[in-house]
Amino acid sequence: MSANLSPNTGANLDAGEVSIVIIGTGFAGLGMGIRLRQAGIEDFVIFEQADHIGGTWRDNSYPGAACDIESHLYSFSFAPNPTWSRTFAPQAEILAYLDRCADQYALRPHIRMNTAVTEAAWKQSAGCWELRTSDGKITRAGLVIACCGGISRPALPDIPGLETFAGRTFHSARWDHAYDLGGKTVAVIGTGASAVQIVPAIAPDVKQLKLFQRSPPWILPKEDRDIPQDERERFARRPLLQKLVRWKQYLRHELAAPGFVSQPRILKWAEGLFHWFLKKQVADPELRRKLTPSYRMGCKRVLLSNDYYPALQRPNVELITEAIQEVRPEGILTRDGTLHKVDALILATGFQAAEAVSPFSLVGRSGRELNEVWADGAEAYLGTAVSDFPNLFFIVGPNTGLGHNSMIFMIESQIAYILSCVRMMRSRKLRQVEVRPQVQQSYNRKLQARFPRTVWKSGCVSWYQTRNGKNTTLWPGYTFEYRLRTRRFDPGSYDIS
Ligand code: NAP
Repeated sequence: MSANLSPNTGANLDAGEVSIVIIGTGFAGLGMGIRLRQAGIEDFVIFEQADHIGGTWRDNSYPGAACDIESHLYSFSFAPNPTWSRTFAPQAEILAYLDRCADQYALRPHIRMNTAVTEAAWKQSAGCWELRTSDGKITRAGLVIACCGGISRPALPDIPGLETFAGRTFHSARWDHAYDLGGKTVAVIGTGASAVQIVPAIAPDVKQLKLFQRSPPWILPKEDRDIPQDERERFARRPLLQKLVRWKQYLRHELAAPGFVSQPRILKWAEGLFHWFLKKQVADPELRRKLTPSYRMGCKRVLLSNDYYPALQRPNVELITEAIQEVRPEGILTRDGTLHKVDALILATGFQAAEAVSPFSLVGRSGRELNEVWADGAEAYLGTAVSDFPNLFFIVGPNTGLGHNSMIFMIESQIAYILSCVRMMRSRKLRQVEVRPQVQQSYNRKLQARFPRTVWKSGCVSWYQTRNGKNTTLWPGYTFEYRLRTRRFDPGSYDIS
């Protein structure tokens, strides 16, 4: 059962004991499982709370959902997909890709659907994790890899009276596909990455759309296009060509990194591009004024869209910038005293990210809960290991998110690091690895010291930061720097037994 000793035989996964537990089946959980299998490790189980794999790409099925990183780059490096239909694939295609990966790499026998982990505790005497799941079972595991996602829990706005609304209310990540928006007057609250995709997609169907904006986003043109059949066939014939395209896209994103991580004034040229784009798409100067952000570009996520501004100018769409006072049974009351009567309320209000800790109780070696340890803001070593929590790794843990490049690159870096640890534990017959507290502290001190010169500290309020202003979500550097640091497990940073 312990990570070192378990026979590598494809153990009886229902026996309640397993070498490795992975939690979640998004890109991170699936990627980890695939890499374990490729390394010849079969004694692992993947718990998935829902009835389908896919993580954020399963949950965010709202109309218009698509990636805002090019799909050749936003996919596993080891599983290129030559058949992407567009530069930025729609959600259903990304979910289908993940389903194909699960089949192609024979992961399904390892996955336990409809099984949420409700509690996990490290048992020092036994040298293992004990996990309780929603099916009432207990599983003991030598190693746990938490891949629960950085943006998996919807944030509901604390608007007075929200619960009194008499119509239909749902969050963008919990889209009610059974509810027909046709002919309805609909309110959308929020103008982030989700809203700019939802608004153009639903505007033609609804009777009236009232969009409530608190702060306008910076939006740039999306260089999206259909990928014609002959191009897809070329990628299938010449995998090297697809690799080159992927590298070109990666480098292009990485070239923007200095503007985010050290020299925000570089982004001035992109602000110029924004103003040109806005002027080109929006004729009315008053509407342009409302749509112009008052914070530095990059401080919140920069969005890409060609159809958002045109959608706002449809006769049935109204942009409301007056602050929301409260929600009433009939609709939304704004501070100017106007009651906006609506049939449905769509909350495109984002996710609990910076403040979010573990979605279930995680108790470490000394009996402390992770929520308690992280009360002042989550932190980990390399965003993956936490002192006092042996044999536990996070993927997309604290400070591993990105504002400028593909998350799959970061996820694969973490997978490589954890796999290297698993291999070492097995080859050296190690039972327990736990990052040293001094190593974790020193790492985080240096990491936080980098934020003041980043664009994310230029004065806006964003989901990247906790209420106290600590950035616990983003990696404040270049992605290749993170890759180099995680290329192999560094036992010197750990207490090992
Ligand atoms: P978000 O970026 O956090 O946007 C939430 C929006 O809701 C903001 O406009 C926010 O206004 C507004 N809001 C929140 N609380 C409010 C309140 N009480 N009253 C009025 N407005 C309120 O959330 P998101 O759009 O769901 O995107 C979250 C992240 O998911 C993105 O940054 C991105 O990483 C990811 N995402 C990616 C894609 C993609 O294309 N790949 C698509 C969707 C999402 P303020 O700005 O004033 O706070």
